[in-house]
Amino acid sequence: MKIVVLVKEVPDTWGDRRLNLETGLLERGAGELVLDEIGERAIEVALTYAEANSGSEVVVLAMGPASVPTNLRKGLAMGADRAIHILDDALIGADTTLTATTLAAALSHEGFDLVIAGNVSTDGGGAVIPSMVAELLDVPAATGLSTVAITATDVTGRRDTEVGSYTVKAALPAVVSITEALPDARFPSFKGIMAAKKKPLDTLTLADLAATSGASGEDAHSIVISLAERPARAAGVTIVDEGDAGTQLAEFLAKNQLI
Ligand SMILES: Cc1cc2nc3c(=O)[nH]c(=O)nc-3n(C[C@H](O)[C@H](O)[C@H](O)COP(=O)(O)OP(=O)(O)OC[C@H]3O[C@@H](n4cnc5c(N)ncnc54)[C@H](O)[C@@H]3O)c2cc1C
Repeated sequence: MKIVVLVKEVPDTWGDRRLNLETGLLERGAGELVLDEIGERAIEVALTYAEANSGSEVVVLAMGPASVPTNLRKGLAMGADRAIHILDDALIGADTTLTATTLAAALSHEGFDLVIAGNVSTDGGGAVIPSMVAELLDVPAATGLSTVAITATDVTGRRDTEVGSYTVKAALPAVVSITEALPDARFPSFKGIMAAKKKPLDTLTLADLAATSGASGEDAHSIVISLAERPARAAGVTIVDEGDAGTQLAEFLAKNQLI
């Protein structure tokens, strides 16, 4: 079983996160860049299966800038066998279509039985990449899973929605995305960190993927043409009860069209 885990490098949610208001790009220097936590959970799902099933291979795959290998090494330190980094200047400012096309091309190039992704990233937050990748690869997508059971031939999981839960099953090869309901990821051990230094980490460019990808990076894709910072929060209204607090409150709610 070959499992490829899609992991994204994102700004640490505990740190400072900023967009450059001129370019629309993420200010990558503004804070620490880390593996998205949901990606770490996805690695955990893959490793749990691989440890119980000898002959399995876990590959971590990320598209992103030159800083990505440091974070891919963390996935290797957790226990993944290999890592692949897609790096190309033409991918700077990629939209979701270009991201999905490129990831799908790398997956075709690499080959896989199962792809495990997070359901949503903490920076872009589109929650669309796993479905787009599955569509481009013409394989089933089982998204938003809060449980995952993998066999040699299929993958099954529970999908929780606002109206209820249902169980979905897909024949392999398939793409799944997981939610934060899955267990926390393990911490890399010292032995794992040392071993990770010697594990293969390959870099692919768009030229390497040209045979499997229609994307040159120069194709028409959406770009951010304007953005604005969220306005600062206005001071709240304090109502002091001098016998008419109820009236004041009702007036405030009516004025703000809340009642
Ligand atoms: C019109 C438009 C313009 C954009 N322009 C910019 C821009 O100029 N600069 C910018 O920084 N961003 C830009 N973005 C955002 C960028 O396209 C997305 O961050 C990126 O495509 C991934 O989408 P997401 O973060 O919404 O992923 P989601 O769909 O929320 O991610 C779900 C899962 O997919 C996988 N995944 C997602 N991205 C990757 C990746 N790169 N490598 C490996 N796995 C991955 C992970 O498993 C992740 O958990 C733009 C988006 C749009 C729609």
